[in-house]
Order: sequence, then C-alpha cells, then structure tokens
Amino acid sequence: MSKQSTANPFRWIDNPVPWPGGAKAALAITFDVDTDSLIHIAYPDRSPDFLASISWLKYDELAVPRLLELYRHYGLKQTFFYPAWCMEKYPHLVEAILKDGHEIAAHGYLHEAANDKPVEEQAYWLDRQVEVIKRLTGKAPRGWRGPLYSASQHTPRLLAERGFLYDSTLMGDDVPYVLETAAGPLTVLPTHHAMDDWAHFTHAHEFNYVMPIRSPDEAFAVYDAELQAARRHGGMVITVWHPFVTGRLSRVDRLADWLAEITAQGDVWIAALEDIAAHVAACAATGAWAPRRHAFPYYAEPLPELRQKAAE
Ligand SMILES: [Zn+2]
Repeated sequence: MSKQSTANPFRWIDNPVPWPGGAKAALAITFDVDTDSLIHIAYPDRSPDFLASISWLKYDELAVPRLLELYRHYGLKQTFFYPAWCMEKYPHLVEAILKDGHEIAAHGYLHEAANDKPVEEQAYWLDRQVEVIKRLTGKAPRGWRGPLYSASQHTPRLLAERGFLYDSTLMGDDVPYVLETAAGPLTVLPTHHAMDDWAHFTHAHEFNYVMPIRSPDEAFAVYDAELQAARRHGGMVITVWHPFVTGRLSRVDRLADWLAEITAQGDVWIAALEDIAAHVAACAATGAWAPRRHAFPYYAEPLPELRQKAAE
C-alpha cells in the first residue's frame, strides 16, 4: 500500500540489524495500559468528578481482550507497558495478558512523571513499580517506558542498577542503541511521536491534549509509511498505542486489516520488546551487529552559559 519510491539508492542506516529469518524489519505493537491512572495523577484532589474521562479510559476493559484475541489469531507475543497501580486495580486484565504469554513491562506506578522529582523519589517510584510487577507476574520487568515520555538524566542509570535490559522511551536512532551508564549498559529500543496513537486520535481537553481526530486510514497511512521505510532500510518500528484509543471499533478493525497485510507480506519480524532486546544483545555479543554506544549522561547539569546569564 506504500506509495513511496523504492527506486532511490540511499541506505540511511549505517548499522541495520540482521533480523531473525532474514526479515527486512522488526515491528513491536506495544500498548500502554494506562486506564484511569491518567485522571488520578492529573487531578489528585478531584478525580472522581471527571466521570466522562474515567469512562473513556476504562474502555481498556473492553479493548484489551480484543487485542488479545487479535494476537492469538496471528500467533503473536507482544509487550504491554503497565502503570503498576493499574495492575493492582484491574488484575483480571493482567491475568488475561499473562495467560496468553505476553510481556508486561514497567510504565510508572501511577503514571507519575519520572523527571519532576528528586532522584531519591524517582528511585522510590521505580522500586515500587518493580515490586508490583514481580509480585503479579512472577518475574522482574525487563523493560520500561517513561509516562508521557518522561525520563531524567538519572533514569537510565536507575534502570541499569535494577537489572532492566531496555528502555523504550527515547528516540535517538532508527535501530536499538546503547547508553553506557555508571551502572552498566542499557539498551534503548527507540520509538517516536509518529507511532503514538494520541497524536492521531486524541481530543481530550481535560488533559490539555487536543488534536484533530484522524480517520483510521489516515493514521495507519502514517504508521505504514514508517514500517515500509523500516523495511527498505533494515529498521524497526515500535508503536506507542493505548487500548482505550486504538482498541475502539473502527481503529481495531483497521489494525486487524494492517496485521493481515503485514503478515501476508511475510518479511517483517513481529516480536515483543524483550525478544528484540535479547536478539540485538546476542547479535552484539557475537559481533554480527554493532550498536551505536552513547557515553551517558549527556549533561550532568544545565548549561553554565545560561546559569551565568541568570546570575547577572
Ligand atoms: Zn502512558
């Protein structure tokens, strides 16, 4: 369905990943199961009185089973990012996800920002979410995504200290890359805003997020352009979708059609992020592939030029 030219000679990725089975690209359809954590963290004193938003967010209870049915049909294992509070509040959804063998990854405790508090508090909320995931899934999370893409200069180190294998918040490459933190390496499985369903479908004034609503065909044209470019260049596509957004009828219908198109093409590796992280780690260990490695943190403090100006 792509209209983009395949005739140009350019190969933009210097280190394309050798994907399993000779696949041309990797795709992870990841969902963030935020449910109504969003309204409680946005309005801690008044959340019960935002009933329309709560009803919108609780649509997760209908949408998650639909997604699971879709994945069962295509034999897919995928990754669900979870605020830990949502796991405690809606354990039946967690049980259904685990029963089908999917990965559960960390996404805050109550969808709190990871970069607006002292580092000790950041560590506290991270430990609290890890504890819940261990208790409810039987194993430690392998991956993390910052709520609202929030991450501080400390986050990668805190994740590496706790044994996380990957982050899927950051956006600095087309293929996985590695942050060399003081606590060891952390693999980044990058995504970006084009693959987030809020940008295409969400009109929620109570969250100050007001976008024109696109048709499913318009949004999936964007997603598919990303996937077809990844196929040409050996890249990777990771969605940042939400059951209460993409799980609604017209969109989940379009997702079902997209999966049919992709699986008919037969040359895209659709995998959970823990499997993609394990694959690239194995390729890096044998020398079959070399990730870009970033010394980290990029900045230990704000720019001194600006501090000096403020003091004047
Ligand atoms: Zn989220």
